[in-house]
Amino acid sequence: MEWETVIGLEIHAQLATKSKIFSGASTAYGAPPNTQACAVDLGFPGVLPVLNKQAVRMAVIFGMAIEAEIAPYSVFARKNYFYPDLPKGYQISQFELPIVGNGHLDIQVNGVSKRIGVTRAHLEEDAGKSLHEDFHGLTGIDLNRAGTPLLEIVSEPDMRSAKEAVAYMKKLHELVRYLKICDGNMQEGSFRCDANVSVRPKGQQEFGTRAEIKNINSFKFVEKAINFEVERQIDILENGGQIVQETRLYDADKDETRSMRSKEEANDYRYFPDPDLLPVIVEESLKQEIKAELPELPEAKKQRFKDQYQQDEETASQLTATMEMADYYERVVKNANCEAKLCTSWVTGTLLGALNKAGLEISDSPIEAERLAGLLQRIADNTISGKIAKQVFEEMWQGNAGADEIIEAKGLKQITDTGAIEVIIDKIIADNPAQVEQYLSGKDKVFGFFVGQVMKATQGKANPGEVNKMLKDKLK
Ligand code: ADP
Ligand code: MG
Repeated sequence: MEWETVIGLEIHAQLATKSKIFSGASTAYGAPPNTQACAVDLGFPGVLPVLNKQAVRMAVIFGMAIEAEIAPYSVFARKNYFYPDLPKGYQISQFELPIVGNGHLDIQVNGVSKRIGVTRAHLEEDAGKSLHEDFHGLTGIDLNRAGTPLLEIVSEPDMRSAKEAVAYMKKLHELVRYLKICDGNMQEGSFRCDANVSVRPKGQQEFGTRAEIKNINSFKFVEKAINFEVERQIDILENGGQIVQETRLYDADKDETRSMRSKEEANDYRYFPDPDLLPVIVEESLKQEIKAELPELPEAKKQRFKDQYQQDEETASQLTATMEMADYYERVVKNANCEAKLCTSWVTGTLLGALNKAGLEISDSPIEAERLAGLLQRIADNTISGKIAKQVFEEMWQGNAGADEIIEAKGLKQITDTGAIEVIIDKIIADNPAQVEQYLSGKDKVFGFFVGQVMKATQGKANPGEVNKMLKDKLK
């Protein structure tokens, strides 16, 4: 039988606020355990939560960026469960009335665009962390993370393959960073995913029973976990079994998912509105204000790069993958004052290649956009050839000198004096009568030999176009 995969993702994005969602404690990552948890985060009796305005603002920014409905009135609810890293015995979240509802995000897979629905996005607080490694037979609790603001973004079950799920997750990751509402650091858990996966016979209307794979924190693992889970479910169904609705864990070492708890064991959270918090009112004026401040979004930027710089889909995607990348590229274009095509090929080719090799991000590039632009200017005005430019690039990478300084110091200027080139050509022709004869008798390939000889004699500094033209003239 042919099976169809159905996937819906719940993504937790940690909002980039300085303080927690209901207290003034810092959200900075990596502090010694329990140094950033105040009485509110610890759930002491008598304390009251106060909502962080910035977190609300960021949720609205997100909602507007995915063209969602922003609830004018939303409510915080208590989600009750017991766990050692949840001191209050409940998590403050949103349930029936989330702040963001009904938006969408477009993904591209194999050149085909597809719209994925976003059901809702709600604000909630993170829990603390249980630490097992350093405590033999015991569990340590670090409550620094307790109360950190999260935006939980819930998709419609619109994805049909692990590839689509990864594309969606990447799009979302790109977007929250563009919006500067989340740092996107997946190693530190700032952006993590629960994947809901089911399969159904191709053509069937109803969805199959799903499993939810919890807390996956890399794109690669999301893809692997889903692929494993799909195989597991198909295997069960083809052997006459049934899928149980359950929560599963992905074990990256073994590349498999394992059951955590089934639906029957699932908690009854007894959600109810939190009496300590007022409803959240989003005024029309806030929406207007945010709309005016919204940056150019990734999709729009990509389209503009395609139109303005004549880039294909793949190149435009690459150059707009982060705001930093796009800004770098546009600074090169602006300062180089040459054809965008030259900028594109140098940024995507030589520069990104070198950064990749060195394991560096664009923001850590040893060559700033302005310096690279200086180099491209010298290619464009024929001061140096593309080949010599690679040499200059290497020098620039090592130090702080500009292209002109290096060209001057190393005497790399292209020889434009045709008289000087002519002398060299005449000598090469005189010294190689056999090759001249071969060429004149129709062996066109020998032409390359002459070009090579001239370039060698000029240490690559002769203008290749000029050399070609002059050689053609002489070898008649
Ligand atoms: P819950 O309340 O248990 O979290 P939701 O209805 O909110 O369940 O759905 C959670 C996520 O699971 C959503 O992203 C949704 O798209 C996805 N989902 C729901 N049903 C299925 C299914 N049959 N197969 C795959 N994903 C599903
Ligand atoms: Mg859920």
